[in-house]
Amino acid sequence: MVTTHNLGFPRIGAKRELKFALENYWKGQSSRDELKALGTQLRERHWKDQARLDFAPVGDFAFYDQVLDMSFTLGNLPERVRDFHGNVLDNYFRVARGRSAEGADDHAACCGGVAAGEMTKWFDTNYHYIVPEFDANTQFKLDPTRFIEQLAQARALGVKAKPVIIGPVTYLWLGKAKDDSDKLALLPRILPAYAALLDHFTAQGVEWVQIDEPALVTELDAKWRDAFVTAYDALSARRVRVLLATYFGQLQDNLDLACKLPVDGLHIDAINAREEITEVIKRLPDASVLSVGAINGRNIWKTDLNAALDWLEPLHASLGDRLWIAPSCSLLHTPVDLNSEQKVDAEIKSWLAFALQKLDELTVLAGALNHGRASVADALAANAAAIESRRNSSRVHSPAVKAAIAKIDAALGKRVSAYAQRAGKQSALLGLPAFPTTTIGSFPQTGEIRHARSQFKSGELDAADYKAAMEREITRAVKEQEALGLDVLVHGEAERNDMVEYFGEQLDGYAFSQFGWVQSYGSRCVKPPILFGDISRPKAMTVEWTKYAQSQTAKPMKGMLTGPVTILNWSFVRDDQSRSVSCHQLALAIREEVLDLEKAGVRVIQIDEAALREGLPLRQSQWGEYLQWAVESFRITANGVQDETQIHTHMCYSEFNDIIASIADMDADVITIETSRSDMELLDAFDDFKYPNQIGPGVYDIHSPNIPTQEHIVNLMKKAAERIPAERLWVNPDCGLKTRAWEEVIPALTNMVAAARTLRQAG
Ligand code: GLN
Ligand code: ZN
Repeated sequence: MVTTHNLGFPRIGAKRELKFALENYWKGQSSRDELKALGTQLRERHWKDQARLDFAPVGDFAFYDQVLDMSFTLGNLPERVRDFHGNVLDNYFRVARGRSAEGADDHAACCGGVAAGEMTKWFDTNYHYIVPEFDANTQFKLDPTRFIEQLAQARALGVKAKPVIIGPVTYLWLGKAKDDSDKLALLPRILPAYAALLDHFTAQGVEWVQIDEPALVTELDAKWRDAFVTAYDALSARRVRVLLATYFGQLQDNLDLACKLPVDGLHIDAINAREEITEVIKRLPDASVLSVGAINGRNIWKTDLNAALDWLEPLHASLGDRLWIAPSCSLLHTPVDLNSEQKVDAEIKSWLAFALQKLDELTVLAGALNHGRASVADALAANAAAIESRRNSSRVHSPAVKAAIAKIDAALGKRVSAYAQRAGKQSALLGLPAFPTTTIGSFPQTGEIRHARSQFKSGELDAADYKAAMEREITRAVKEQEALGLDVLVHGEAERNDMVEYFGEQLDGYAFSQFGWVQSYGSRCVKPPILFGDISRPKAMTVEWTKYAQSQTAKPMKGMLTGPVTILNWSFVRDDQSRSVSCHQLALAIREEVLDLEKAGVRVIQIDEAALREGLPLRQSQWGEYLQWAVESFRITANGVQDETQIHTHMCYSEFNDIIASIADMDADVITIETSRSDMELLDAFDDFKYPNQIGPGVYDIHSPNIPTQEHIVNLMKKAAERIPAERLWVNPDCGLKTRAWEEVIPALTNMVAAARTLRQAG
């Protein structure tokens, strides 16, 4: 019999219950006990949902983040909260977000605000974890309370529990040594805590524990590979059986290592690494379990179950009971329940599977493997019909789009002239001063804007009234910018609630869910639009708003678009063609918008690529291929314009060292980036590379309510000018201003414009 299990379940709740409970608690509007009760309730519900599996995960539930949970379990708290004696959960929130609940926080004075833990992306997903902090003196001290409580809850409910923990090597790999000491030197200290935890599991009657070591799918040097051997040798005497879980990619040169570790089973992500299974089977010890992640844990498409059985059946025949099946990775990265969706078009809905539906698929696969396909004939037939309908749907396939893609050639991505010639023509036309000032696009999303949008959605406001309301906001933004004395204006993006959704809603080939939320970090969730078909643009998307904005001023108005790579990276993307093809389709669609803006007289067009860097594959050896099509897509989008049209791009980060050649290759006339907190040091990459075009290094940290002074901005720009010739510098904030209030934005931009004037006089 094949064994079914799950690596992790989305914890946020089908209706984002956890998000709302957390935010209420933090605001002091509910008690800690109420929050904990909600956690208990969600775990119970999610285990019931997984009751049909042979093993359900325990310990995957977290109030904020599973990595931070692991830090608490290992007793690895940052120095700054170690002496706090408030409630553990409150300390946990202090590490996560700098503070716990208002009011309810009885230790606010002694254990009050601290710096929030640093957050970074969990492998190549859009989930962010709290980075464990280490130094040379870090000690570990096991606190098994969370597991003891949750295992007791699971036992009471009759759940066949499989605790899930992050493995010692990946845990160290994910963290950061604050004093630059060697993290691996901590391995001998962390292993006893793991050994003790495994013994606790044994004492609780646990049969299997899942130890996640996704670091095994990354490029590891000899030291890190040795660490795996040391760690698992040290843990091999524990009585509980260990399933070592890898996911998100192929093992490649770590394959042999992973197969030889003294554990009882290995989980392979068969969505990303199916071709490695044969090799893995050859090397796995005879008694080892092979867990195969046959269902995509990160996407929302139905699995082609018959196709999966075609390759699972032979595996089952050779492995017998040693074969386990599961989703490829934790379902944390998918929404909970497709049945919540009332508005998704029925045909498209029939192609989708959220977490609960993926577990249904798993049960069907197990039924077919254990009792033959005939035993689940109806389910397989329904699945086959859905797969067939998606494969042949005219809504997915557009011959016109496919023909346009086939016609793409290098000329499409080339500007008429080189940067130096273009720059001259642009400056003649725009007549900008030295150190020109601009902003990144959005202005504050005020209560009035949100109110008008929700009234429009609910039908209380008709299209004409909504348009009038947005035009009032645009006029306001333009007047404010004129009063501030900015040089290149923006319309303020009042009409957009999200920079990807706004475009997705207007493109053919996109669908939207109501409850397709995925946790991004803590209580923050995102609802990625669903790219299901060939992409095309039925009509212009931004031209009317931009024209209206331009009509309000004589200054140049910048057109604002989101680039193809960012739209792709922030969507659930179809799995029936390569990402590069979908990206090229988006590129052609946004290119039409660029050309329409140019035709409408817009002389400066910004194409945001906020998410270009985060699409980089996990392994550096695959970066080249990604960057090649990503940059090509941007070039197709941007470079069809005349020399006189100035193309800007914007990126919300500034670590460009390893991708600077690709950034230069995009050939935007101006790039604006986030640099204010790095004190301009991150411009070194541009300096070293001799980046040829113009740069707007951010001088206003928009994530903070603080107002930068004029002097501070002048100083930052002087540092920038040490690295980039002054005549190629712009002055702008780090990013869009939508999350700030006008009361903050006005003084900050006043100082920014004054700083630019000071620089001009000095220069
Ligand atoms: N133009 C967008 C804005 O200003 C850019 C946002 C972003 O870079 N994330 O809001
Ligand atoms: Zn940004």
